Amino acid sequence: MIRFNKPYLFGPELQNVNQAVTQGRLAGNGQFTKQCHKFFEDRYGFSKVLLTTSCTDALEMSSLLLNIGPGDEIIIPSFTFVSTANAFVLRGAKIVFADSNESHPNISVDSIRRCITAQTKAIVVVHYGGAACDMNSIMDLVKEHDLFLIEDAAQAIESFYKGKPLGSFGHCATFSFHETKNVVAGEGGLLVVNDTSLQKRSEILWEKGTNRTAFFRGEIDKYGWVDLGSSFLPSELIAAYLFGQLSHIDDIQSGRIKIWNAYFKKLSKLSEAGYFELPRIPEYATNNGHVFFIVLKSKQERDALLNHLKTLEIGAVFHYLSLHKSEYYKDKHEGSDLPNSDRFSECLLRLPLHLHLSNTDIDFICKSIEDYYSNS
Ligand SMILES: *Cc1c(COP(=O)(O)O)cnc(C)c1O
Repeated sequence: MIRFNKPYLFGPELQNVNQAVTQGRLAGNGQFTKQCHKFFEDRYGFSKVLLTTSCTDALEMSSLLLNIGPGDEIIIPSFTFVSTANAFVLRGAKIVFADSNESHPNISVDSIRRCITAQTKAIVVVHYGGAACDMNSIMDLVKEHDLFLIEDAAQAIESFYKGKPLGSFGHCATFSFHETKNVVAGEGGLLVVNDTSLQKRSEILWEKGTNRTAFFRGEIDKYGWVDLGSSFLPSELIAAYLFGQLSHIDDIQSGRIKIWNAYFKKLSKLSEAGYFELPRIPEYATNNGHVFFIVLKSKQERDALLNHLKTLEIGAVFHYLSLHKSEYYKDKHEGSDLPNSDRFSECLLRLPLHLHLSNTDIDFICKSIEDYYSNS
């Protein structure tokens, strides 16, 4: 069986966990959390970051931090993971779903423009597969309408827009270290707070609504309940594991990109023959090797190939189901049809991508797809 995903262990993850256990400091915001924070500050120039237990939690923190509530409209792509929307629905906001681009699952700027009303408070962009959205145009809209911007950069570690790291554009941005992402900690996430006026409060929300973080820095002599909050910080065990992965980020990235390029090259003939589309990375974006997908001509063709690969024990998968058509939201969606989101939802197929894949595995997967088309 070729699994769709399998986390890769480099070694320092377990050494670090061991060290945390030996030192007897397991609660959050310890040495390894601080080392993870420093990694993101140094490598990407983020001025404030907070580890969280998931990207979902980081999105919920963003929603609290921006005081989103009833009466607010939040523009979100329909083609995304459910947490992108849920974080704002939980605060009572109304979600307005925008469409994807025709040629890429990322949110369409024209579609965003059509969704803006006097009630719009924020735009949430998702850098699908780690490829940047059209940030110059989106930043223009954000400024013109005085909106908040949140980047759901769950898949976008070590990726850039015209040389600037993803996660550095929004008032806040969120990353994921779920086991299916590039850098993993089982479950885990990160909130980036770029807007300096929101940074102090972000620490308070993170620490259950208390000013404990400032207390630990010695800035105040006692701490107490000063605002809303929850327990968004992960334990040191998670941070220790994550820091071990981060110390191998270059290996992770080069390994994934190599696999991505191998797929692209081996499947390009079939793509040129018109069987399916290969991913197109916009010229302003980089490829961080997060997902390799192909886009088939119909749902029928996608499902047939998926099932065929299953019989060969190749773990291909599809995602996402358009959120505006979900059971929970379909009756609440007041907007228009979102044909591009629906097309990716019905026709996109993801191939296995993880560091345990050998060249033989990739050859076998690509050969299986070739054989499928030459025999059908
Ligand atoms: C994975 C993912 C999330 C959720 O991340 P968790 O860390 O599992 O909460 C949110 N948004 C997108 C776009 C994702 O890919």
